[in-house]
Amino acid sequence: MSEVLVLIDHVDGAVRKPTYELLAIAKRLGEPSAVFIGGADQASGAAEAVKKYGAEKVYTVDDTEIKGYLVAPKAEVLQQLAEKTSPAAILISSSFEGKEIAGRLAIKLKSGIITDAVDVQSSEGGPVTTQSVFAGNFTVQAKVTKGTPIITVKPNAAAPEEGDGAGAVEEFAATISDAAKSAKIVASQPRQASGRPELTEAAIVVAGGRGTGGNFEPIEGFADALGAAVGASRAAVDSGWTPHTFQIGQTGKTVSPQLYVANGISGAIQHRAGMQTSKTIVAVNKDDEAPIFELVDFGVVGDLHTVLPAATEQINKR
Ligand code: FAD
Repeated sequence: MSEVLVLIDHVDGAVRKPTYELLAIAKRLGEPSAVFIGGADQASGAAEAVKKYGAEKVYTVDDTEIKGYLVAPKAEVLQQLAEKTSPAAILISSSFEGKEIAGRLAIKLKSGIITDAVDVQSSEGGPVTTQSVFAGNFTVQAKVTKGTPIITVKPNAAAPEEGDGAGAVEEFAATISDAAKSAKIVASQPRQASGRPELTEAAIVVAGGRGTGGNFEPIEGFADALGAAVGASRAAVDSGWTPHTFQIGQTGKTVSPQLYVANGISGAIQHRAGMQTSKTIVAVNKDDEAPIFELVDFGVVGDLHTVLPAATEQINKR
């Protein structure tokens, strides 16, 4: 069985959840091999973590300096590893960084690339992906027809599957060019933790729009009861009620959680573009003709300031 390379998405060695989702997808396509590019002192912890989610092999890179650079060296490592292992596919998480690495890698390998897949299945002749394109107006199935399939996958596209792989660690001696080392990280500050999951990775997102009238307390209370991330429409962001990092939609973030709850959001096409691949969609809106109700699985016609506190109370009682 051919190897499927999964680039480990991590922060200072702490493996992020999308990596485990990629490993679950890799198992469908071949033999999952994880690739850790980061500090040498962080490699064994990361290897141990991915082993528990089925990594048969874990490649680590013997270059203590590599974590000090931006994306270019990572693309070079993956290129050299792909040339050595001829994998069936390379899976990378659809973060800004992941997509940049994937793009650079595709050029280096002269391979086809598919970004932002919400599903990847095995098929004869290579993996078939599903994506939502043109602001969510079309869902397409696609396949790489040239070279090694390089696929970036959105968070929540698959459920992580626990189960030990062999986790055999292999140190890979990559050669990083001077050109790739031309941009160095000079300082980095950890993002302030909100205590809530990261928006694009969260299994549940509770979002608020203009209908909140600027009061996000019911949204936050409901989100915290569910262990969800908080999102917003552009109207709420433009009104200064929430930071821009909360914005979901065409000019904001794209989310694809298991559950999306839209509150006081009308369902404009630009908002839908960022959330309509969510697995289950619920809306609370006082207008029963709001366009958001066209795409929901469950809808509540009512005032969010009444509905959400009542729902939060019920959940917190359990
Ligand atoms: P509205 O459309 O004003 O809807 C508010 C809703 O709240 C209504 O349906 C109303 O019935 C309901 N409501 C009011 N009070 C209550 C209450 N008490 N309880 C329950 N329901 C209530 N928008 C995005 O979201 N993301 C984007 O990335 C984005 N990008 C854009 C890019 C471009 C180029 C353009 C032109 C627009 C973009 N927009 C984007 C804006 C988009 O077109 C809409 O204007 C925006 O999504 C509307 O936000 P909203 O649904 O919160 O507000």
